[in-house]
Amino acid sequence: MTQERTLSIIKPDATARNFVGKILAHFENAGLSIVAAKMVTLTPEQAGEFYAQHKERPFFGELVDYMVSGRVLISILEGNDAINLNRTLMGATDPKKADPGTIRNLYAESIAANAVHGSDSPEAAAREIKLFFPELK
Ligand code: UDP
Ligand code: MG
Repeated sequence: MTQERTLSIIKPDATARNFVGKILAHFENAGLSIVAAKMVTLTPEQAGEFYAQHKERPFFGELVDYMVSGRVLISILEGNDAINLNRTLMGATDPKKADPGTIRNLYAESIAANAVHGSDSPEAAAREIKLFFPELK
């Protein structure tokens, strides 16, 4: 597998509980490099555009409210098979179903406040990286 990039977000529940360093260590210990990063508070417009694919889902309004409720650490992770590797490190969307030792198993509060986002395909990674890091070529 060639070098690949993926977009990661450490979500407001995890930044509020000071889990940023612990979560970044999971990425680095697995061989992923952090090649760009910024700590921001998203606007409702940014959060809505980011999660546009979920607009029709019943939880969309709460998801946007949650994503703007505190700081998020947005980063680009790079490495071999970065997209799938990050998804494996994250664990299942519902922390109750996440494998032991995964980020969501260790640090997530609930299926909504689940500590991290990770791109789920090469197309999603490209879209999300461009959305948050338009200055990168
Ligand atoms: N989410 C939620 N309720 C659900 C499913 C998802 O609040 O029943 C939220 C949760 O924060 C999740 C995000 O919506 O991370 C995006 O959902 P997706 O199915 O894409 O999960 P992910 O790719 O983050 O594992
Ligand atoms: Mg998703």
